[in-house]
Amino acid sequence: ENYHAALEENRKLFNEIQELKGNIRVHCRIRPFLPGEDRKSTTIEYVGDDGELIIANPTRKGNEGSKSFKFNKVLGPTASQDEVFKDIQPLIRSVLDGYNVCIFAYGQTGSGKTYTMTGPENATEKEWGVNYRALNDLFHISHNRGDTIMYEFSVQMIEIYNEQIRDLLCSNGPEKKLGILNASQPNGLAVPDATLHPVSSMSDVIQLMRMGLANRAVGSTALNERSSRSHSVVTIHIRGLDLKTGATLRGALHLVDLAGSERVDRSAVTGDRLKEAQHINKSLSALGDVIFSLSQKNAHVPYRNSKLTQVLQTSLGGHAKTLMFVQINPDVSSYSETLSTLKFAERVSGVELGAAKANK
Ligand code: ADP
Repeated sequence: ENYHAALEENRKLFNEIQELKGNIRVHCRIRPFLPGEDRKSTTIEYVGDDGELIIANPTRKGNEGSKSFKFNKVLGPTASQDEVFKDIQPLIRSVLDGYNVCIFAYGQTGSGKTYTMTGPENATEKEWGVNYRALNDLFHISHNRGDTIMYEFSVQMIEIYNEQIRDLLCSNGPEKKLGILNASQPNGLAVPDATLHPVSSMSDVIQLMRMGLANRAVGSTALNERSSRSHSVVTIHIRGLDLKTGATLRGALHLVDLAGSERVDRSAVTGDRLKEAQHINKSLSALGDVIFSLSQKNAHVPYRNSKLTQVLQTSLGGHAKTLMFVQINPDVSSYSETLSTLKFAERVSGVELGAAKANK
């Protein structure tokens, strides 16, 4: 019985992987209203089981009608961390077969990117985000496969702020500026100078995440401010040794919490703030361009336009697989940001507006 269940699971996993190759999946997640927010003023009109999302701006009258979007999945405000993870579990497990996988969280500041990727501060196990759940699941599965393949896991964590890379897991503090090797790395490390920490248990992982978080706050007045203006990339490197053949396989899972996508009013900011905004704009549009040109199967993919796309180059395109969580704030005051977030998502999913409608 167990054997058949395992076969069935493998078959599902395989189909899912085939389907994903070269494509990007987009899962839209709507965060719930927080205590104190006015639940009546929402832009969310409809959330379908089939990935349809309709938004509307109730404060505007006249020709500002409802807009419909279609994604691989829409997760409503009551979706639990566990549900969110279950949908992406096959994708995550494919790294054990030697795939490279990127998972992004995109959206305006306050839309739940960090909640999805990491969880709330001092999260309980139930509240764990994708980072913790991924490692927990990989440890578990690899243990079950331990008779045939021996796996080793190691973790890197970097931050990209104003197009500079900092190592967040460097025990002497984060200020090291790192370079990128551009050719495909023999050891698969896109940022070879960033410290690489072997991990084999959740307590290792929790300790490292704490260090990363503490280092992320260094040099900024408030962690929230800093984290909304920088990208953080947690990379899990997998090395598997096939005990029968002696062959080695490598996979990598990149878990990316992107800088806030909100447009900054350029006439209202100057100096550092303007510089930050320009860097964020540049790198998010570079990411959008790379994913879009991959989805269009363009011959030239513009990886070199940002540090973010350079770091992830070997894990975007080719046999790599990509999933983007598109995070939405349900409040009507976020309507225009929500709309531009959804348009970005629609573009990277490679589906034209007209085509999405025609499919329904
Ligand atoms: P971002 O990383 O996009 O700036 P956060 O993840 O910090 O946003 O989320 C903003 C606030 O909303 C935080 O207080 C967070 O705990 C809360 N939040 C976000 N998503 C959820 C959710 N699904 N359930 C409960 N609280 C959430």
